[in-house]
Order: sequence, then C-alpha cells, then structure tokens
Amino acid sequence: MAKIIDGREISRKTRESIKERTAGFIEKYGRAPGLAVVIAGDDPASQIYVRNKSKACEEVGFGSEVIRLPAEVSEAELLSVIEKLKIDEKTDGILVQLPLPRGLNPKVIIDAIPPEKDVDAFHVSNVGKIMLGEKCFLPCTPAGIMKMLEVEGISVDGKECVVVGRSNIVGKPMAMLLLQANGTVTVCHSHTANLKDITSRADILVAAVGKSKFITEDMVKEGAVVIDVGMNRDENGKLTGDVDFEAVEKKASAITPVPGGVGPMTITMLLENTLFAAELSVNNN
Ligand code: NDP
Repeated sequence: MAKIIDGREISRKTRESIKERTAGFIEKYGRAPGLAVVIAGDDPASQIYVRNKSKACEEVGFGSEVIRLPAEVSEAELLSVIEKLKIDEKTDGILVQLPLPRGLNPKVIIDAIPPEKDVDAFHVSNVGKIMLGEKCFLPCTPAGIMKMLEVEGISVDGKECVVVGRSNIVGKPMAMLLLQANGTVTVCHSHTANLKDITSRADILVAAVGKSKFITEDMVKEGAVVIDVGMNRDENGKLTGDVDFEAVEKKASAITPVPGGVGPMTITMLLENTLFAAELSVNNN
C-alpha cells in the first residue's frame, strides 16, 4: 500500500511558517504583504477559487483585495484596473483569475501585469526565468508538488520522471522544475504514441490531464511515486483526480489523493509567492 501524501497537512505547516514570517514582515516594515485578485464574470468555479485565495490571505495576515468586474468588461477597462494596481504600494501581488470571459485575450492581460507582481508566474518574463533556472516566482501548482516531494524526502535526482500533460500552467513548468532538480524528464500529451510504455517507466509520475481515472494501474510501475494534479467532477458532481486511486494506490510507493493532495498546496504556494513579492518590493525601495 502506498504512503498517502497529505497535501492538507503539508499545506497547514507551510502556511504556519508563512504566517510567522508575515508577522515578522509587518513588524519590520509596518505594513502587510498585499494580494489583489481580479475576477471578471461569474464563473462559479472561479468564484470559489477567488474566495479561497482571499480567505487564505486573511489567515496568514496578508491584506487582500478582490476586484470584481462584469463579464462584459472591455480589454481597455481591465488593463486600466491592472495599471492602477501596478502603482499601488500596498499591492505586492496581482492575480487575474483565469479563464477570462470570451473576448478577452489572456496573453494581453497577463503581460500587462508587472513581472515583479506576477505571483502566478504566468508573465512571459517569469516563464523565461523558469526556463533559465533564475530565481523568480514559481508557478503555484508545480511549486506545490516540488514542496510535497521535498517534505516527503522524495529525491528527484537521477529519477525517471514522466509528466502527462503539457499545459503552460502545469505540465510544462512541472517538467522544468523536475529537470532543474536533476530528474530525467519525459513530457507526454494527446499525440504521444505508446503512452503506457512511457508512464510505466516512471519513478515519479505526474498526471495533469483533466480526465477522471485516466491513469490506470497497468500504466504505473511498481513502487512509483504518483502525483495527481487532476480536478475533475464525476457524474455525481464528486471531485476526482486523473488517477484511478483505489487501484494505483496498491502499486505505488507514494500517492497524492484528490481531494487533499495537490489542490491545497497550490494556494499555499500563491501565499509564498506573495510574501516573496512583498520582500522584493521593500528591498527595491
Ligand atoms: P489542460 O486541458 O490545459 O491540459 C491537459 C493536457 O493533457 C494537455 O497537454 C493534453 O494534451 C493532455 N492530454 C489530454 N488527453 C490526453 C491523452 N489522451 N493522452 C495524453 N495526454 C492527454 O489542463 P491543465 O494542465 O490546466 O489541467 C490539468 C488538470 O489539472 C485539470 O483537471 C485541472 O482542473 C487540474 N488542475 C489542478 C490544479 C490544482 O491546484 N490541483 C491547478 C491547475 C489545474 P494536448 O496538449 O496534446 O492537448
């Protein structure tokens, strides 16, 4: 039976440490780190994510502001909101909740966020730094996974790592972080031939596909570490991952559950990035 990697517990401990560092920051600089979240439209999942982010900020002592805009907001209006936040001294991090309503180009909007306030690490300049291995914000979900591996004492060095999924927010940056940690990395996608042969080689297998129970037991090597990024809803509305947990758990050495695995770590790493942005801001002024 695999060890269940408890993302909630790792997240709780990491947030405790962030809370302590935040108290130290407030004492030293007389202000709290601040995150502004911009949300356009009323997508129900996005509303929940934004609420959770804002609650997490309050819990660790950050200032947080949510700017709600209608789905019909124009690109110019949204850019002017970002422009104001850009020069607002109490705002260290700016996050625009994705997906944006139809008609708004996410690339234009994300590139308007100044890189030093881009706590999601989606700006082209931060993506470039991730490629180069330069110190910068790390994309929250992959960074949360690296933190979990570190806390669990799972070394990536020399391991065969397979990432299924190549999105800009999960798959690609995940591959880069594993590579920087000296893993031998293969990235798979919907055109990959012989997927099962490749996933079966993995010492560390990361599933970021968006399809319930996509990774079955026969795709996993005995003793592998299996990280499930998926957040899908089954026919009963229940949250499920990309991995067939019950079957794979018997074969893996360690596995993240859904819920309670990668999900809680993502917001925790957003907090980490916001504190880092606040530290950058005071050191630059
Ligand atoms: P995307 O839809 O952007 O990417 C999915 C990837 O899976 C694509 O690269 C796609 O390949 C690949 N894929 C699809 N079908 C197959 C297949 N049959 N074989 C191999 N690869 C395939 O999703 P995201 O990366 O944004 O998210 C992935 C999952 O993770 C979702 O369930 C999402 O909800 C969840 N998620 C969870 C987070 C968390 O905090 N826990 C945060 C972010 C996402 P191709 O590129 O060829 O189309």
